Amino acid sequence: MSESAEAGTSVPPGACAIVVAAGRSERFGGELPKVLVPWRGRPFLAWTLQAFDDCPEVASIVLVASEEVERGWRQAGSPGRKVISAVRGGATRQESVLAGSAAVPEDAPVVLVHDGARPFVTPALVASVVAAARRHGAALPVLPVVDTVKRLGSDGHVQETVARAELRLAQTPQGFRRGVFAAAQAWAERADVVATDDVALVELALAAGAVPGDARVAAVPGARSNVKVTHPDDIPARTELRVGLGHDVHPLERGRRFVLAGVDIQPDTATEEGFGPAGHSDGDALTHAICDALLSAAGQGDIGQHFPDTAAENAGRPSLEFLTEVVRRVGELGYRPANVSAVLRLERPRLAPVLPAVRAAVAAALGVDADAVGISAKRGEGMGPVGEGRAIVCDAVALLETRR
Ligand code: MG
Repeated sequence: MSESAEAGTSVPPGACAIVVAAGRSERFGGELPKVLVPWRGRPFLAWTLQAFDDCPEVASIVLVASEEVERGWRQAGSPGRKVISAVRGGATRQESVLAGSAAVPEDAPVVLVHDGARPFVTPALVASVVAAARRHGAALPVLPVVDTVKRLGSDGHVQETVARAELRLAQTPQGFRRGVFAAAQAWAERADVVATDDVALVELALAAGAVPGDARVAAVPGARSNVKVTHPDDIPARTELRVGLGHDVHPLERGRRFVLAGVDIQPDTATEEGFGPAGHSDGDALTHAICDALLSAAGQGDIGQHFPDTAAENAGRPSLEFLTEVVRRVGELGYRPANVSAVLRLERPRLAPVLPAVRAAVAAALGVDADAVGISAKRGEGMGPVGEGRAIVCDAVALLETRR
């Protein structure tokens, strides 16, 4: 069932990580297998694979996944550049790991086994497991037990309080010298032993004298963030905030319409006051600055990259359409606007009467309440292009939060 992702390329010696994402039955409330549920715009599995891609001690990855999960991973794109094989899982986790082991390169000195549903593992944690496994034969990350542990009797009542000083919670990746793991797996096959995790298999094999040499199982400090996502509540509830700054300027010229966020500020261009912004689109400095602030917060460049003024379809286009599209694009990356604050600088016309309508239009485009939008207008006191009535300038700050 295995398939070489990069046939013919030789992999330098280094750890091989078996990432187990086989769980056909693991649904996460919706119709997607849980490792394909998106978080910040990418499936959990993509974040998991990224950590191994980013760890220099890891040379290759064997992905154990169902056809559906493998397809979902390939569609997600780049993370997983070290994947050398994608293999189908077995009926149990142990069988899935065994299937993955068959695809581990012969020269890999260390084999790691990691839950595909632990997407928040860090390259540093992976590296510490590799180092400990090389040294001791086997290693895993552990956490101290912080809650008091009770043992219940068969009647459901508390029987005793368990001393927790020596207790630890096991995480993955679990790492092994290749020979140690192979010996333990061969023994388990022969003896028909099923273990709850991969280190447990090695523990049992060591106790049975089935592993040659002096291997022991080392414990390295795990990370609280390295959760196994088994329930929607496991996704870090912490909202991530991203701030962005935007700026725009347009010349003011006689005989131009003046539109801010789709609101006609000065429909009568024939009057003495008939100055409006010149620009490729409708010259709406407010909306352009807010677009830039949102794009900047998401690390997505600026409005010129997304809506080039060389493109004919953008000529004269209402800027509010750009804003709606920007909100959609940052939304695809997992963000939504929290609030926006903008300062317009212009000499005329007086904006105070129309600001509530402008604010409501911006809020509607952002999908936020009006009180999440602040817009103020300042004059230039006769100084510079703004004070001389030749320019409209806008600065905007946008805050994005993760959509959860
Ligand atoms: Mg502009």
